[in-house]
Amino acid sequence: MQATAATYLDDLNPEQRRAVEHGGAFAAPGRPLLIIAGAGSGKTNTLAHRVAHLLVNGADPRRILLMTFSRRAASEMSRRVERIARKVLAGKAEAITAALTWAGTFHGLGARMLREHAERVGLDPVFTIHDREDSADLMNLVRHERGLSNTQRRFPTKGTCLAIYSRCINADMPLDEALVRHFPWCAEWAAELKGLFAAYVEAKQANAVLDYDDLLLYWAQMMADETIAREIGDRFDHVLVDEYQDTNRLQSQILLGLKPDGAGLTVVGDDAQSIYAFRAATVRNILEFPDQFSPRADIITLDRNYRSTQPILSAANGVIGLARERFTKNLWTDRVASRKPQLVTVRDETDQARYIVEQVLAKREEGIVLKQQAVLFRTSSHSGPLEFELTRRNIPFVKFGGLKFLDAAHVKDVLALLRFVENPRDRIAGFRVLHLIPGIGPASAQRLLDAVSDGADPIARLSAQPAPARAGDDWTAFVRTLEQLRLSEWPADLERIRLWYQPHLERVHEDAEVRTADLLQLEQIASGYPSRERFLTELTLDPPDATSDQAGVPLLDEDYLILSTIHSAKGMEWNSVHVLNVVDGCMPSDLGAGTSAELEEERRLLYVAMTRAKDDLHLLVPQRFFVHGQPVRGDRHVYASRTRFIPEALVPLFERTNWPKVQPGTAYASQGPRIDLGARMRERWR
Ligand code: ATP
Ligand code: MG
Repeated sequence: MQATAATYLDDLNPEQRRAVEHGGAFAAPGRPLLIIAGAGSGKTNTLAHRVAHLLVNGADPRRILLMTFSRRAASEMSRRVERIARKVLAGKAEAITAALTWAGTFHGLGARMLREHAERVGLDPVFTIHDREDSADLMNLVRHERGLSNTQRRFPTKGTCLAIYSRCINADMPLDEALVRHFPWCAEWAAELKGLFAAYVEAKQANAVLDYDDLLLYWAQMMADETIAREIGDRFDHVLVDEYQDTNRLQSQILLGLKPDGAGLTVVGDDAQSIYAFRAATVRNILEFPDQFSPRADIITLDRNYRSTQPILSAANGVIGLARERFTKNLWTDRVASRKPQLVTVRDETDQARYIVEQVLAKREEGIVLKQQAVLFRTSSHSGPLEFELTRRNIPFVKFGGLKFLDAAHVKDVLALLRFVENPRDRIAGFRVLHLIPGIGPASAQRLLDAVSDGADPIARLSAQPAPARAGDDWTAFVRTLEQLRLSEWPADLERIRLWYQPHLERVHEDAEVRTADLLQLEQIASGYPSRERFLTELTLDPPDATSDQAGVPLLDEDYLILSTIHSAKGMEWNSVHVLNVVDGCMPSDLGAGTSAELEEERRLLYVAMTRAKDDLHLLVPQRFFVHGQPVRGDRHVYASRTRFIPEALVPLFERTNWPKVQPGTAYASQGPRIDLGARMRERWR
């Protein structure tokens, strides 16, 4: 069916339209296509139009694979596709986009593919997924078992071990090379690390768990088998990927495995926004994409920006223009405005928070709702003073990319039991659960788990174990709950677990009431999932964000300010954007080893932050800021200066202000005792 009144195509500029219509008739998937373009040029919008266009022209929605960088982005994409398709298909659009079942993240889709083919690749189909914290716990367990944690020379921490391991996997790099290039201070431990990683892999297999990296690794390995790869690839006519600049080697292997000749493949990205090199993402994927196929992939570039005003865009172009290597060119816009972006000097982080609150409230008075405003920062811990100020002033906010709902101890406890029932071989979950029972310490937990680790029906065998000496009634209650859980129907499981967990909650936490509300909220979220397995998988891979007044997801109709790490703000846009701590030591961060590649990535990070703004952009430069928990020098205040990414030559692109207006000669340091608000805000989640 060729749509005649395809009015949605009129919304596009000629290049965007060329991208949307690329490939012509859709019965046969077209040649591979790369859309490479700068921020706000409508890449995601074009991708959504392309999907809608395919559907309108009769493509089967179940045969479209759509990969985005977050689940949030995937559902946003489905919503947009529906809106566009509705212009032509009216009532049918909703049903068709509902059938767009293969839309999500690489990790989430990987988990689904692996579960489907588990038997064929030697995986236990009930595998559970370890988040970073669980992975670090398991790494630590193995580290202890191998006697590496108390050697005379200091062995790398569990977090460092995991980072090294992860780097080897994602960059597809041998250990020795990863050590030399990225962790030179750990090179003396090469032999021990090798043994440790081998044992870690064994432990994961014995526990039937996969970590985040495994989801990509196993998927890529599975695609290396031609028969399976063809089977999976043949299920999809069209494979589309957004934010391709932030994929790593494994992800590009997966993509090539799916579509070796590139037929029906569309990837979209911006090399100037590549900000995940620290997780082994490589911009080479996007730059090399066209030549991976024969004949070459088609390339479409877009250079008109629809998002930001000219002064904001000029400033962003100025910052990225100083970058060493870049494929995408200068963007232009016809959104004229007289107001330049603000470069605001404040005394410290407290004033920074006050300035932002003042501005945010003023904007709201002008009719810009909170949801149209965002505050962005380099690292989650930087927003502490602001969160405090917002709470004090009763301004609701939601924080993306920081501590999550699921990181709260009580939520993790409850989910651990759910995970343990799903996969009783998951020892990390098992340990966490058994530790909740009074009278059971590490040794008896280990003994119990050892006793049931082999053989059929471990849950039944655990229930049959004699009660540990000091656990008594608590053990009986636990066994009863386990038995109920074996029989109960989803999603009733969580309520049973909550009832069992309640006494622990009241014993251990002072704010038991608030935490119980979280658990009720968790039950609410769970009721939206078809099965325990899907709930656990999707929640682990893309957890809900934390809010100001309570954990969990806010009601959709509430108004709230967005707080987000720059990484989590990817692809989004707001009317007004504030960026915190635009100072040397923060952007660029002090923590990196400071190689030029790392510096360039920090520059792109600032560029990503700046290009989120439509009408108003404020970069804040506190003259002193607080550095959290540095390994060498600990927590401390440091004096700071404007980021080196805005050298004097670029300053005229901004309007410079001081806040509050200070008289020359006024002492800067505020008087009175200092309190660590960051620590207080973090405490809430412990
Ligand atoms: P990023 O690089 O940040 O991911 P992007 O290239 O994906 O940005 P979009 O988010 O798709 O850009 O679009 C940016 C803004 O421009 C959106 O508000 C979108 O609706 C608008 N836009 C895109 N194309 C057009 C167009 N042809 N006409 C009008 N507005 C457009
Ligand atoms: Mg985008």
